[in-house]
Amino acid sequence: MEPRHRVVILGGGFGGLYAAKALKHAPVQVTLLDRRNFHLFQPLLYQVATGSLSPGEIASPLRAVFRGQKNTQVLLGEAVDLDAAGHRVLLADGSVEYDSLIVATGSGDFYFGHDEWKEFAPGLKSIEEATSIRHKILYAFEAAEREHDPEKRREWLTFVLAGGGATGVELAGALGEIAHDTLRRDFRSIDPRDAVIYLVEGGPRVLPTYPPDLSAKAEASLVRLGVTIRTNTFVTGVDAAGVTVKTQAGTERILARTVIWSAEAMGTPERKLLTRIILPAALPYVFSGVRVTLPVALITAFTAEMIAGGGGVGSALMFAQRFFQTPIVFVYILVMLMTGFVLDRLMLWARRRLLPWQDEMQEV
Ligand SMILES: Cc1cc2nc3c(=O)[nH]c(=O)nc-3n(C[C@H](O)[C@H](O)[C@H](O)COP(=O)(O)OP(=O)(O)OC[C@H]3O[C@@H](n4cnc5c(N)ncnc54)[C@H](O)[C@@H]3O)c2cc1C
Repeated sequence: MEPRHRVVILGGGFGGLYAAKALKHAPVQVTLLDRRNFHLFQPLLYQVATGSLSPGEIASPLRAVFRGQKNTQVLLGEAVDLDAAGHRVLLADGSVEYDSLIVATGSGDFYFGHDEWKEFAPGLKSIEEATSIRHKILYAFEAAEREHDPEKRREWLTFVLAGGGATGVELAGALGEIAHDTLRRDFRSIDPRDAVIYLVEGGPRVLPTYPPDLSAKAEASLVRLGVTIRTNTFVTGVDAAGVTVKTQAGTERILARTVIWSAEAMGTPERKLLTRIILPAALPYVFSGVRVTLPVALITAFTAEMIAGGGGVGSALMFAQRFFQTPIVFVYILVMLMTGFVLDRLMLWARRRLLPWQDEMQEV
């Protein structure tokens, strides 16, 4: 019997799960590889972070999910590299071979190039981060209860959510409920309703990817829950004492013991592995751009030299030499490559529309 086509799916999040499910009846051998043995339902992470759900309620064992799917094997392992030529995923402790590979490793938090902020402002992508945030939030109220210095107490009761996307809005709302409702009667020295919750967003409105009327509704609900919304405000620094923000009025410090990162996400490092597959695939397109670009670049250089009053191929070559030494040449080449590519595609499209028999003749 012919060995089955081997499909390896890297990551058992939503992407990996649906890919594997879609292959249930396909004549292939599926291997689902994840560094965790469970699928995490990320949309409910903020409820773990704010204590209304326990971690077990939002995680399902991958083995149980695929118990009935006979062509699928679940493996626990962390991918650390890719051997694209040898068709192998390299693990921390071994390797897995594939005929087709699906990479669905999700995204991570992006700290605008300041990974040192992570220590003071955890993101919310994993169970560990959710439980750590839960600890931070509850500990802040406990520390405020014991603190006698009003300034320091205010710092403990100040919470900053950096990023007004869906995660920031959900967390801010949940924090507002905790402060104004859940914990309202549980303390003696402090009133949890004195908590100041900042939702900081660089853009002009929260939920920037949603329609404006939904942003407005979300803002109104958050304000009712006691959240202070700071739009057009950029976080420029995070440390143990709080955050530094930049607004149109200038730079400002917000002293806060609890800062949570709810801003941008970026592809996990594993996705960079894909460049090894994507780049070779993209090369033909680059070359098709070069085919048009090179003659255009030479003609431009030559014509420019002629117009400038020079003459002959020799001076045109000298012009080209000077031209290639200037930084603007990179922008020029980029523009030419893109133009060349678009022209090439247009010509191909036009040829197929106007002279369809040519393709048929080539096939014959
Ligand atoms: C707090 C929060 C709230 C959200 N709310 C919503 C919502 O309400 N609605 C909505 O549509 N979306 C929501 N999202 C977004 C949604 O959860 C994501 O878009 C979705 O989880 C992405 O799925 P994925 O499969 O690409 O990645 P993930 O779900 O992140 O899965 C990636 C998987 O890859 C594994 N992995 C990563 N690296 C490796 C490696 N090197 N080796 C092996 N395994 C690896 C991980 O363990 C993980 O299981 C929310 C996200 C968050 C964080």
